[in-house]
This record gives sequence, C-alpha cells and structure tokens, in this order.
Amino acid sequence: MRIARFTTGDDPRYALVDGEPGNEHLTVLTGDPIYTPVQPTGERVALTDEVRLLAPVIPRSKIIGVGRNYVDHAAEMGNEVPTSPLLFLKPNTSVIGPDDPIVLPTWTEDVHHEAELAVIIGKVTKDVSVARALDQVFGFTVANDITARDVQRADNQWTRAKGFDGSCPIGPWVVPGLDVDDLRVTARVNGQARQDGRTSQMVFDVATLISYISEVFTLLPGDVILTGTPAGVGPVVHGDVVEVEVEEIGVLRNPVLRRA
Ligand code: ZN
Repeated sequence: MRIARFTTGDDPRYALVDGEPGNEHLTVLTGDPIYTPVQPTGERVALTDEVRLLAPVIPRSKIIGVGRNYVDHAAEMGNEVPTSPLLFLKPNTSVIGPDDPIVLPTWTEDVHHEAELAVIIGKVTKDVSVARALDQVFGFTVANDITARDVQRADNQWTRAKGFDGSCPIGPWVVPGLDVDDLRVTARVNGQARQDGRTSQMVFDVATLISYISEVFTLLPGDVILTGTPAGVGPVVHGDVVEVEVEEIGVLRNPVLRRA
C-alpha cells in the first residue's frame, strides 16, 4: 500500500496510490490517516500534471536525524563510527515535497545530498523497547537530508547546516508495513549515480534507533526519523535535479535552485 498527500489546487488531501510508475491513480481518502481513521470518498484521480504530490506529512513536532549511521559514510567524512546513535534535529519548516525546489542559501557554497530511508511515527512513543519499536511506525518514505557541508564543518553544531528551509525533502508517498531490513538506497544527480547503499549496512537498525530516540524525546504521530545516509554524498548546484530512491518505496525528485 502507498499513501500520498496531494493537492489539485485546493486544500491538501490524502489518497491511496495504485498503478505502475507513470500510470498511477489516486483513491481519495477522508481525513488524515496519521491521526484519524479514514475511508475512501469514492473519488478516483489520475496522477497527472493537474495533481501535485506534497510532502506526505508536515511533522507537528520534529524531525530527528541520525548522523554517521553507515560505516562507509562515516569513513568518507573522516569520522569514527559512533558507539551510540548521533542525533540532531531539523525543524518542520525544513520540509518540502516532491518536485519542490531545493533553494540553496546565500551563506553556503557546498550543499550536499544525503539519500535516506525515513520513518514516520504513528503513535505517541516513549521508552519503547527495541522489540516493540516497529509497532509505533505509521510507515516509511524517502528523504534527502540536505546539508550545507562547509557550514557543518565550521559550526560546532549542525542546526544551521541541516535545518534551513527546504533542507528536508520527503516523499513521494508513505509505505506502511514495509520490511526495511535490507532495502537499496540510492541517489542520482542529473541521472548520474552518486550513492548506492543498503539499509542492512546501518550501524544501528530502525528498531534500535526508535527505541534509543524514544528514551530522549516523546515521539508524536507524524514525527519523522531520518536514518542516516550511505557513502557517496556530494554537492548539488543550481540547475541540478537530484533523485533519491529507496527500493519498494519510490523516487523523490527535486530540482536545485540558487536565487539570483
Ligand atoms: Zn543525513
């Protein structure tokens, strides 16, 4: 099952997605499936240019990122693998959706893509065990943890480098109930392969991350966890198109723009 948030010009709505890539249809739902029971409205919409997919959720409280969660990526940045998950926050104002432009800030010259599996929390979660952690998940989507690498190196903490407007593209939709133990995670820039890893290479797996994070924060429905990026991160510049793909979820595509 795939659940998308979309607009045809009016208020955002949710829908179930079916069909092959390029020929998808939406079965429109009542309400918001992250917070309330939903039902089909009976309306069907073809996924055409008239329909714009939106970020599948705007978190009400937070996005939690995990740094250096793939050995090869920690190594390419010259860092040790952490002995416990390395957490950071991105504000909900960093979220953009599929095809929305990533606008490069004026104060950085080195913005990188980071292809990641994203977890969307479905229930209020505090101090959950690893064994029960996946019961708290609403579903999974694709994220690009956009990072101003020069600023990340210059600042003592990562708020500016990873929290700016547009630094958290997510989408194109949510897949509930997915086995995420071994999914391919890739990034392409202008069609050229940049990142190619598997979630099986994570230092801390998804259940461990949720449990660990829930000992720090109360996780609320709609909160998003970014699970770290494999090796191959690199720069994006004005005019690029960056695509992040997670196997069995889909492709998240965003153009990159620097305002003159
Ligand atoms: Zn990241």
